[in-house]
Amino acid sequence: MQNPFETEEIRAFRHSLAQFLAQEVWPYVDEWDEEGHFPWSIHEKAGSLGVFGLGIDEAYGGLGFDNAFMRAALWQEFGRGCSGGVTASLASRNIMTGPIQDLASEEIKQTALVEIVSGQKGGALAITEPSGGSDVANMATRAERDGDHYILNGSKTFITGGMHASYFVVGARTGGDGLDGISLFFLRDDIAGFSRESVGRKMGWWASDTATLHFDHCRVHASQMLGQEGQGFLAIMNNFNFERLGMAAQMLGMAELCFEQSVTYAQERKTFGRPLVQHQSIRHKLADMSSKIEAMQAYVYQVCWLVEEGHKTAAEIAKLKLFCSKELEFIANEAMQIFGGAAYLRGNPVERVYREVKVMSIGGGSQEIMRDLAVRQMGL
Ligand SMILES: Cc1cc2nc3c(=O)[nH]c(=O)nc-3n(C[C@H](O)[C@H](O)[C@H](O)COP(=O)(O)OP(=O)(O)OC[C@H]3O[C@@H](n4cnc5c(N)ncnc54)[C@H](O)[C@@H]3O)c2cc1C
Repeated sequence: MQNPFETEEIRAFRHSLAQFLAQEVWPYVDEWDEEGHFPWSIHEKAGSLGVFGLGIDEAYGGLGFDNAFMRAALWQEFGRGCSGGVTASLASRNIMTGPIQDLASEEIKQTALVEIVSGQKGGALAITEPSGGSDVANMATRAERDGDHYILNGSKTFITGGMHASYFVVGARTGGDGLDGISLFFLRDDIAGFSRESVGRKMGWWASDTATLHFDHCRVHASQMLGQEGQGFLAIMNNFNFERLGMAAQMLGMAELCFEQSVTYAQERKTFGRPLVQHQSIRHKLADMSSKIEAMQAYVYQVCWLVEEGHKTAAEIAKLKLFCSKELEFIANEAMQIFGGAAYLRGNPVERVYREVKVMSIGGGSQEIMRDLAVRQMGL
């Protein structure tokens, strides 16, 4: 479907990403998934293409502007032409640079932000804790004021990019119970008292490094607080919007990949004397998948348009992420059926998408929490 809002500039950006993914990423994603990591040069190449630059000032190496359609094009291409693990490890930057750009000191921006945006150094967002991720307002990691510093104690888990990140944006409780007691901090990985360990083997996103972080009396200078004390929850929620919109567009790309692979296979594979594509039940699957992809696409565009028009979009983005995750579950399942046993083998792109669907309905806010958020925003 032609996007009426896609400018020449967005098309060129999309094209350069697609080329990069096709030539330098796609041929190796299975190998990297099996190895559990991928070369750092991919981070730097992505940085040079502007993958981390949207919404970041040119002074810090960013593109100097933001655009929801461009964000969507970016993550859609990654969904279609990459593995979820590689995408997640790269994108861990994009979910933590917003608060740095908007709220960090000039010193942090001129040093760390520049390195993160160029792809030289990794960054990660640390919100989820071992005691839970959905109830952000109840986080337990504490930061106690001590003169010019805060003393940080606690743990974070499931932190994407966390094993290799040099910089972190961390949520911690500086005040009393509830959302007013939360603040955001910028941390470097060489701070005394910081340690990390891998979460271990995951269902999907194998190429991504996912960490549990420990803060044991970490002394963080007060200038590393991002924004006002007690305003961290709001910053976290604003930041979630970009993450969820990106995930929705990524799911659209993953769905398109499933469809394209299914069509090709259905044309090649013969059963009962004719290609699969000539069997009615397979044709119906393709029709269902195609109509759902067009609905996802139209919905992504509509929400991007609302963002660009300056509307409040937390509820719309929550519903969009929910919708796309439900539709992708269906589409990946149908693609598996069309392939039959062939998609049960590792190395088949449909198999990879199928094992990576689940995290899309949990990470960045689960389906249940997206529903809650959407209905709360309706005033109910
Ligand atoms: C691979 C991966 C990467 C991740 N990367 C990051 C990252 O980079 N940074 C980060 O901070 N976090 C990250 N997360 C964490 C993710 O955001 C959380 O897993 C998610 O928010 C859910 O939190 P939880 O797993 O603690 O589940 P819980 O909060 O314990 O919830 C468990 C289940 O109960 C449901 N539930 C909870 N409360 C309610 C309710 N009130 N009503 C109905 N149902 C409810 C949830 O939807 C979920 O299904 C990642 C997770 C994964 C799996």
